[in-house]
Amino acid sequence: MAKLGNPQETIAILQRYNVRLQKKYGQNFLIDEHVLEKIVDAAEIGPDDFVLEIGPGIGTMTQYLAEAAGKVCAVEIDRQLIPILEYTLKDYDNVTIMNADIMKVDIRKLAEEENGGRPIKVVANLPYYITTPIIMALLEKSVPLHSITVMVQKEVAERMQEGPGTKDYGALSLAVRYYAEPYIVAYVPPNCFIPRPAVGSAVIRLTRHDQPPVKVKDEEFMFRIIRASFNQRRKTLQNGLYNSPELHIEKARTVAALEQMGYPATIRGEKLTLEDFAKLSDLLGEENA
Ligand code: SAM
Repeated sequence: MAKLGNPQETIAILQRYNVRLQKKYGQNFLIDEHVLEKIVDAAEIGPDDFVLEIGPGIGTMTQYLAEAAGKVCAVEIDRQLIPILEYTLKDYDNVTIMNADIMKVDIRKLAEEENGGRPIKVVANLPYYITTPIIMALLEKSVPLHSITVMVQKEVAERMQEGPGTKDYGALSLAVRYYAEPYIVAYVPPNCFIPRPAVGSAVIRLTRHDQPPVKVKDEEFMFRIIRASFNQRRKTLQNGLYNSPELHIEKARTVAALEQMGYPATIRGEKLTLEDFAKLSDLLGEENA
């Protein structure tokens, strides 16, 4: 079986199987060998690794992953692509293809069963319509995880690296910072895909921290505060926490906590660092107890 990372082979497969590309699944297939090599290099995959690939498409990146890794599990939602994957990956005996929606897969169980609970590596050219939920689920759901190396929309990659006070700073930046070390590996133009996406792309690697960089008493409560602060970006923090149905914290309590931290009552969430959110969460949590 020929390697797929070029336009000719990709078009031949799509035509042979008469594939109707599903826009709703964010299907943009990689056709550039250098980009594929860069992703696999950045993920630092070796023969001891178990790799989870989300959305293998026609199996282009899966072939590269299968050559480097011990085992690969490739989860693809689109049923019409499964016979293609069975064909393009037939030479690799270390690949499992799963026809499923990644949001419904118990990844923790998969890592337990397939990798003895050891940290897994996630590698993907992600479907852009659900990039953030996928990354949040991987980070938050205590999956044994070593790293996530993924192609995402350029702006989303940049948002993951942003700090306080910038327009793209938000819940995703804070979650990434809390759980992982982000590093943009490469920017990738639209002509590296079939069909070409309307946006620029970037490969980002998130390496999970052994320990989060801040200590907080109740992680889940802190993330509820973070989400509420950015749900209404243009509101003050005290309004955001009051208006959030899941929190509904009295404004006076938020103001008192902010005052203790040396911040004015009018401050917005976008000015607070991760350390600030941890402190605020501990202060407001104490009063909850
Ligand atoms: N990995 C291939 C490549 O690089 O050429 C395809 C990448 S394409 C951007 C995204 C892939 O994710 C598509 O094959 C799409 O069908 C699949 N996909 C979309 N939503 C998914 C979901 N919820 N669970 C699993 N796969 C999904």
